[in-house]
Amino acid sequence: MNRHTAVLARPGTWVALVAVAALIFSGAVALAMFRPGVGAPTGALASPTLPAVAQASPTGSGRPSAGPGTPSPQVTPTPEPTQPSTDKVGPRHSVDPERLKDYVWPLHNAWITSKFGPRNFGQFLVIDGVGYHDGLDIATHCGDQVYAAHDGRVLVADRTFDKFIGYRGHPEDIYNRLQRLGRVNALAIAVVIDDGNGYRSLYMHLAEATVEPGQYVRAGDQIGKEGMTGAATGCHLHYSLIRMDGEWQDVLPRLNKYGYPLLIREHVDPLDVLPWGDQYAPKRLRDQIYPPSPTPTPASPPPPTTSPSPTPTGSPGTTPTASPSAHPG
Ligand SMILES: [Zn+2]
Repeated sequence: MNRHTAVLARPGTWVALVAVAALIFSGAVALAMFRPGVGAPTGALASPTLPAVAQASPTGSGRPSAGPGTPSPQVTPTPEPTQPSTDKVGPRHSVDPERLKDYVWPLHNAWITSKFGPRNFGQFLVIDGVGYHDGLDIATHCGDQVYAAHDGRVLVADRTFDKFIGYRGHPEDIYNRLQRLGRVNALAIAVVIDDGNGYRSLYMHLAEATVEPGQYVRAGDQIGKEGMTGAATGCHLHYSLIRMDGEWQDVLPRLNKYGYPLLIREHVDPLDVLPWGDQYAPKRLRDQIYPPSPTPTPASPPPPTTSPSPTPTGSPGTTPTASPSAHPG
């Protein structure tokens, strides 16, 4: 008999062992009864599939013990696939829109009448299941000069511009259909310019184009006159910026019966590219229509001013008086 079994053989040892076992059992029962989720408000964070022992952490918080730097697997959101259809993305050589350089405003001191983004009329693209206006609408007066937003080569300057803006497919069906109907003049007059950086600029609804295909223009050169040809409710310029090696985007499916292909190259937001420090930028509306932070934030009162004199803001006196006639469309 060695020393270990000799200890177990003593009656006093068995009493002590039973007492310790009873203590452990009652502790486990107490922990199991104190389940978060029953009374603890933090129980919602704990997965219901976890055993009760794992939920009843020693801290009593009910949250699986994890330091601030070690996120627990229970609260980590499942990463969403950002590109559900990978066949839409190919190799790119162009820079992202935010890094494009040397663009100028194609209309001077214009009003922004419609931005690139979701819209419930005149949609063209479908992005994330939502109908999008595919460019930037800016307006001054009918007949005003429209300028090239970037140096480049004019590809087309008429109503049959669709074949130059990056469809996957054959947009000629658009013209063939209108030809049959005798309505080719229903299309907008447009200029498409290869900006030489992987992007093309599209200037739509012109009253007339003042450049020819093949012509090289510099940023700021006149290329046409502001008008309302095509589907427009008033004189304005629709300016689209198309990334010719970008991802494929969905064209609104119901346009297919008018001859529009189902996919087109990536349209980017011109407001990411046009220069806000430019003297011709629509400064008056800069903070109002395009706030510095793109994150949507709820309207909040202005911060308290430290100046003792009250500063009138938003009074009728600050309303711009010389308003150009804005034509929505
Ligand atoms: Zn538009």
